[in-house]
Amino acid sequence: SRHVVRAGRFETERTYIMIKPDGVQRGHVGEIISRFEKKGMVLKALKTYQCPKAVAEEHYKDLSSKPFFGDLVNYICSGPVVAMIWEGPGVVKSARLLIGATNPLESAPGTIRGDLAVEVGRNVIHGSDSVESAEREIELWFGDKAGVVDWTPTITPWVRE
Ligand code: GDP
Ligand code: MG
Repeated sequence: SRHVVRAGRFETERTYIMIKPDGVQRGHVGEIISRFEKKGMVLKALKTYQCPKAVAEEHYKDLSSKPFFGDLVNYICSGPVVAMIWEGPGVVKSARLLIGATNPLESAPGTIRGDLAVEVGRNVIHGSDSVESAEREIELWFGDKAGVVDWTPTITPWVRE
C-alpha cells in the first residue's frame, strides 16, 4: 500500500498524535511522549501549536453534526496543543491501544486516558483512528513539512526483528 513507508528495511506506518490543551496545561507532555518512546515507536515530528478554529473544525469535520461539536472545537483551541507524528509497525492501532477508549471512565487502567483523565470532553490526547485518517491528519497539521524528519534510530535492530 502507498501508506506503508520504508524506514531502512523495516516496514512501518505513521500516525498523528496530539496532546490536547488539557494534557499540556496539566503537565503531561513528558509522561505521554515517554509512553510512546518506551513502546518503541519513533518520533518523526513535534510542535507546539495554537490551533486556529478552522483547523480544529477540519480535523473533526466528521463530527460536525454532533451536539458537542462546538464545545469540542473550543476545547481544542483553548490553549496550545502538542502535535506529533509517530512511526512504527502498526502504529495507528497500537497508539489507539496506548491511548485507551474515548470515554476515560471506560479506558483501561494503564492506558493514557485510563490513567490521566475522567471526562470525555477532557480526554488529554488524540490519535488517528485509521491509516487513511492518519494520512489526512498529517497533511492537515504538518502539510508544510516543517519539523518533519525522516530518520531511523540506530537502536532500531534491537527493537525490530
Ligand atoms: P476519539 O477518536 O477516541 O478521540 O473519539 P471520537 O473521534 O469519537 O471523538 C473525538 C473527540 O470528541 C473525543 O476524543 C472527545 O474529546 C470528543 N467527544 C466525543 N464524544 C463526546 C461526547 O459525547 N461529549 C463530549 N463533550 N465530547 C465528546
Ligand atoms: Mg476519533
